[in-house]
Amino acid sequence: MLNKGADWIHLDVMDGSFVPNISFGFSVIEALSKVAAKPMDAHLMVVHPERWFERLAENGVSYVSFHLETSAERSSSHIDTIHSLGMKAGIAINPDVPVESLFTYLGKADYFLIMSVFAGFGGQKFMPESLERISSLQTEARCRGTEVMIEVDGGVGVQNASLLREAGAGVLVAGSSVFRSPNPLAAINALREA
Ligand code: ZN
Repeated sequence: MLNKGADWIHLDVMDGSFVPNISFGFSVIEALSKVAAKPMDAHLMVVHPERWFERLAENGVSYVSFHLETSAERSSSHIDTIHSLGMKAGIAINPDVPVESLFTYLGKADYFLIMSVFAGFGGQKFMPESLERISSLQTEARCRGTEVMIEVDGGVGVQNASLLREAGAGVLVAGSSVFRSPNPLAAINALREA
């Protein structure tokens, strides 16, 4: 299923410090890297994300996003480091961070991850105000004449997939709506067709 369904494999890495939960680390990522034929996308919900960039690259990860909240003014240098390791760089924000704080990274980061729930736990309910945040980032990019790839994560399913796409999201991260489905592959296809 790993290589049949989705376009990317999204890895939610949590450290129990930036978020009040622990998910998994390199033992799982290394195991996945041995079988993954699709690009791996690491979402680092950890303090000091820069400590892990090199090891993610060594494990064949293609996309790495870190949270603006953990990095602030070091975000630009994080992007440079990720690029120097041959990976695409993304910046993630929680729902309480103004979306305008991402504008300065338009044209510099390869993608932006708008959290539509607070990072830390699966199975949360989608926050509808995320739609406006996505379209405002998309509009700002258009005004600046730059392309933007927006990823959305949290409470994503068939009920909001088309709204998210219309708002300007190009990458939908789905956890519960896929893995709690009796037929995960069909759930992924339903998201594409929604
Ligand atoms: Zn994620």
